[in-house]
Amino acid sequence: MKIPTGLFVDGTWREATGGGRTPLVNPATEEVLAHVSAASVADVEAAVASAQAAWESGWRDLAPGRRAAVLYQVALSLRANVDELGRLEQSQVGKPIADARDEAGLAARVFEYYAGAISQFGGQTLPVGRGGFDFTLKQSMGVVAAIVPWNFPLPIAAWKAAPALAAGNAVVLKPASISPLTALRMAELATEAGLPPGVLQVLPGSGGVVGDALVTHPKVRKVSFTGSTEVGRHIMRLAAGNLTRVSLELGGKSPNIVFADADWEKAADSSPMSVFANTGQDCCARSRMFVERPVFERFVERFVAATRRLVVGDPSLESTQLGPMASAAQRDVVESFLADARSRGSTFACGGSRPGGRGFYLEPTVLLGVGSSDRCWREEIFGPVVAIVPFDDEAAMLREVNDSPYGLSGSIWTRDLSRALRVSRAVESGVLSINCHNSVHVEAPFGGFKTSGLGRDLGMAAMEGYTETKNVFVNA
Ligand code: NAP
Ligand code: MG
Repeated sequence: MKIPTGLFVDGTWREATGGGRTPLVNPATEEVLAHVSAASVADVEAAVASAQAAWESGWRDLAPGRRAAVLYQVALSLRANVDELGRLEQSQVGKPIADARDEAGLAARVFEYYAGAISQFGGQTLPVGRGGFDFTLKQSMGVVAAIVPWNFPLPIAAWKAAPALAAGNAVVLKPASISPLTALRMAELATEAGLPPGVLQVLPGSGGVVGDALVTHPKVRKVSFTGSTEVGRHIMRLAAGNLTRVSLELGGKSPNIVFADADWEKAADSSPMSVFANTGQDCCARSRMFVERPVFERFVERFVAATRRLVVGDPSLESTQLGPMASAAQRDVVESFLADARSRGSTFACGGSRPGGRGFYLEPTVLLGVGSSDRCWREEIFGPVVAIVPFDDEAAMLREVNDSPYGLSGSIWTRDLSRALRVSRAVESGVLSINCHNSVHVEAPFGGFKTSGLGRDLGMAAMEGYTETKNVFVNA
């Protein structure tokens, strides 16, 4: 497995101006995996200029069918390399290899979907006043900056890049500092598959340097960000200077609501992975569980038993379900939440400790008796921690569900169809699932209400977000 360590600019590798490098640590072994070039402001200038040139000189005007053919080749190439991409992902963020491979497959599927979407995307003709003919054009914007996090490095890179490219833009992508490898390899594979040089650049480097330089660059027409709510706010403020368009996919504190009439055993067996998958480092993690009182005790017992069966360990093994956390820093953050829960007298039904040995591991943790003003109830933890509370009354439960600054995702478990529909209308979230936990569908819009974000990734909504609408009136 070759580890990419350069910047990917203009279809080729280069070192960072100034020679900056960032060490990458394998979170399962705590060993240094590589030293990756860290871009400077001068590199951002060069990458944006090259992207602008590639956009102007051909990509924006390429016939839609030709653009679709290129993106389809990119999808094939990613799919042919899922093993390598999976191993790169596993080694940089500690993701279990089976999940890492699946996510590489998802990235391929995203390119395939947007290759097809190109032929289905366009403007309208509109009935306007007599004497003319009115139509809209969906035009590419120019250079799009994508700033992405470390929890799903490759899929999120793909779901920013693919629709932006499909809509005819050029992309400069900044991966998270701890997880640049798969985005770099994706760009190299895409170029080998026929994407013209300059159309997709990848600049590893720090958020404060590369991120800020991209967001404030006058040639960057749109910033698409996934990460923390705090950095999302910062980006929106910076973008105000040039009125650069932004879409933001931010944090969450998603509810998982189980009514007593549900198949609560199925809910109890499946719900641990709705919060602990990816070691809880998931913006859609169902970290607040509301269980109706008549089944509460039996549900908790079964949920804890299912949690204890989860296989935590070496992410290079096929059988592993939960790897380490992606960084020591993130584990420290999570442990500060656990300390707060202890000091407030919450009950730890299981977990709460490091299993010992090497790697940034933390046991999946189930908290009971968490108060509604406690940090573990109100704030996004971004680690393997869930709080479970009982409820008696639907309306009161919904007030508590919506008493959160976040509104990204959630699950509702009931056999009563009217209740499922009533509750899904009432929950203030951008994405919901009924009697399951699936949040992400390539074909469907994904994003949040309230401080969970602005705009939508995936589906046709994402392509819409990477275009400007022009209205043209023809005097007939
Ligand atoms: P983050 O700081 O928001 O990082 C996300 C991306 O933004 C990274 O590429 C980061 O670069 C970049 N960035 C950081 N500071 C920036 C700045 N001033 N200007 C422009 N870009 C900047 O998230 P994090 O620190 O990795 O994680 C902290 C918290 O974010 C987590 O605990 C979780 O709550 C949340 N989070 C949410 C998601 C999600 O999917 N919604 C994903 C990841 C994290 P660097 O890596 O170089 O800092
Ligand atoms: Mg940060």
